[in-house]
Amino acid sequence: MMKYALVTGGSRGLGRAVCLKLAEMGIPVIVNYQSNASAAEEVKAAVEALGGQAELMPFNVGDEAQVEAALAAWQDAHPDDYIAYLVNNAGIRRDNLMFMMPSEDWHAVLQTSLDGFYYVTKRCLPRMMMRKHGGRIVNMASLSGIKGMPGQANYSAAKAALIGATKALAQECAARGVTVNAVAPGFIETDMTKDLPVDELKKLVPMNRFGRPEEVADLVAFLVSDKAAYITGEVISINGGLYT
Ligand code: NAP
Repeated sequence: MMKYALVTGGSRGLGRAVCLKLAEMGIPVIVNYQSNASAAEEVKAAVEALGGQAELMPFNVGDEAQVEAALAAWQDAHPDDYIAYLVNNAGIRRDNLMFMMPSEDWHAVLQTSLDGFYYVTKRCLPRMMMRKHGGRIVNMASLSGIKGMPGQANYSAAKAALIGATKALAQECAARGVTVNAVAPGFIETDMTKDLPVDELKKLVPMNRFGRPEEVADLVAFLVSDKAAYITGEVISINGGLYT
């Protein structure tokens, strides 16, 4: 029986760094993405260059039928294996002041971060919860979900809800050796933040810089490791001192 990791939104940014880090730990990774196939192929090649094993699995996390079809096909092809490490990382932002926010931007953000978490996790849980299996779930939340950020009512709501679900699910799964934690990054250098006024925002961060994806990946790696077996239901901030 092989234990796989599934990283949603694994093709770029934080997800990409997590895929590489888990591969370094000897875990075979399933790289999910939505549309950017060339970025996903690059991650697969980078994992293989490290001596690791990667499979691509495109689907929209916010579409239950796509999630179900992709994961059912994978399980059919891997009857003896299971996804033991799930990193719910796929996310988007569609920032706007609330009074100007189109309803599609409200729903798109909730659908990706929150519905996506629900569809993918629900599909993976039964195997993790089987006796002697166990598992690790890490949800990519955000400082916005703790503090609330102006211009991000949709994103803050999605991430705060993800934190609530993390705490609830952790208690449902604890007795089966499945831990569920959230990571709450501040500003990290990825495509998601490249159009922000970096020099202005850096001044708000006590460490005076944005974080690197690899720094977040190291935290995720710890949470999925055996060393973190007694940590569950936690939200761990990684933000250079940018507290609420
Ligand atoms: P990013 O660079 O924009 O990458 C987003 C990734 O998510 C891509 O791999 C993308 O796939 C995938 N994705 C987007 N929508 C998807 C969907 N519906 N289904 C499947 N995959 C989807 O973002 P990032 O900065 O790495 O952020 C990753 C996570 O960290 C997000 O949840 C974000 O909210 C959170 N976060 C980021 C920061 C930050 O400062 N960067 C801070 C706090 C929290 P394609 O390549 O196919 O588009």
